[in-house]
Amino acid sequence: MRVYNFSAGPAVLPQEVLEQAAAEMLDQGGSGQSVTEMSHRSGEYGAIHGECEALLREVMGIPGNYKVLFVQGGAHMQFEMVPLNLMRKGKADFVVTGQWAGKAYSEAKKYGEANLVASSKDKTFSYIPALEPEKFDKDADYFHICQNNTIFGTKFSAPPETGDVPLVADMSSCILSEPVDVSKYGLIYACAQKNMGPAGVTTVIIREDLIRDLSDSKVPTMLRYQIYSENDSLYNTPPTYAIYMCGLVLKWLKKKGGLAAMKTLNEKKAAILYDYLDGSEMFGGTVEKEYRSLMNVPFVTGNGELDKKFIKRAKEEGFVNLSGHRSVGGMRASIYNAMPIEGVEKLVAFMKHFEQENA
Ligand SMILES: *Cc1c(COP(=O)(O)O)cnc(C)c1O
Repeated sequence: MRVYNFSAGPAVLPQEVLEQAAAEMLDQGGSGQSVTEMSHRSGEYGAIHGECEALLREVMGIPGNYKVLFVQGGAHMQFEMVPLNLMRKGKADFVVTGQWAGKAYSEAKKYGEANLVASSKDKTFSYIPALEPEKFDKDADYFHICQNNTIFGTKFSAPPETGDVPLVADMSSCILSEPVDVSKYGLIYACAQKNMGPAGVTTVIIREDLIRDLSDSKVPTMLRYQIYSENDSLYNTPPTYAIYMCGLVLKWLKKKGGLAAMKTLNEKKAAILYDYLDGSEMFGGTVEKEYRSLMNVPFVTGNGELDKKFIKRAKEEGFVNLSGHRSVGGMRASIYNAMPIEGVEKLVAFMKHFEQENA
C-alpha cells in the first residue's frame, strides 16, 4: 500500500511518474536498456537530457540569456560554487532566514566578505525579516536569499529588489511550486529531491553574463559553472537517471497545467492545513501568518510527549515522515506538488480525530 508521505526530502513523487519509470526500467523507448545503463554519450540519453532542459525552460519560462546546468553535490555544493564563481570583488549580501540560508552565509565567508543584511534568528526563524535597502551593499557581487525555508516553514512572498546586484536564490524546496519571474534573478539553484525528482541532481539557472572564465584560476574544474555551461552539463558523467526522472516529473507537471495550476492547487492544499491549525485547540502553526510557506508546514502541540504520540499514531494510519527537522522537533508536513489534495484532507481528518481522542 502507498502511504501519504510528508517527507521534506527526498520526498513524494507523482505516482504516474513512478509507474512510468517502473514500466521503462528494463527497456527505455525500445532501446532494450534502462536509462541507468545507457552511455551518457549515446543519442538515446542525449535526447532525455535535452528534453529535461527544454521542459524546464518551457515550464518555468526561462529567458534565452540564461543557462540551465545540471550539477551533482546537492544544494550544499552551491553554497560553495556560488561564491567561488560569482565573487569578483569579493563581497556579497545575505539574508539569514534559517539553517540553509545560514550555511550559504557561513560558507561564503571563506571566500570573501559576507554582509549580513538581516536575520530572523531572534524568533527562531518564524518570520521573514523586513529588509532595509540602505543596508544593501551596492557594490556586492550578489545578494543571497533562501526563498523557501524548508525547516522553519517560511517563504519570501516576493523577491527583494536588489537593483544591479544579481539576486541569487536557493529554491530547493519551492522550485516548480508556483510561477517565478526568472529575469528577476541572477542565479537560481535547487536540489531535485524536494519538488522536482530524486536526489542526485541540482539544477542551476544562471544568467549568462555571470558565468566567468575561470580557466586560469585555482577553482576546481568541477566547481566552475563555465565547465557545465560549455559542455551542456556533460563534461563528465551527469546523474543520468535523476535527470531522466526530473524530465518525467516536468512532463507530468506540464500535463497538469504547469506552474499556474500548481500554484492554485498548492494554495488550496496549504489553506486546508493552515485553516485547521488556526482553529485547533491542540495543534498550532509556528510561523507568523504572512510568511507561511506553501510547501512546508511546521506545527506543534506544545507538549513534546503528545507530539511523539501524534507522529506514532499518524504513522500507523499511513501518514509518514511527519517529524519536524531534527534541529527543531515538533511536526512538519511537507506538501509538495506531488502530494495529492486527498492526502492533506485525510491528514486533517486524522488530526481532528486525534484532537478529540486526546482532548
Ligand atoms: C534540502 C535543502 C538544502 C540541502 O540540500 P542538499 O541537496 O542535501 O545539499 C538546501 N537548501 C534548501 C532550501 C533545502 O530545502
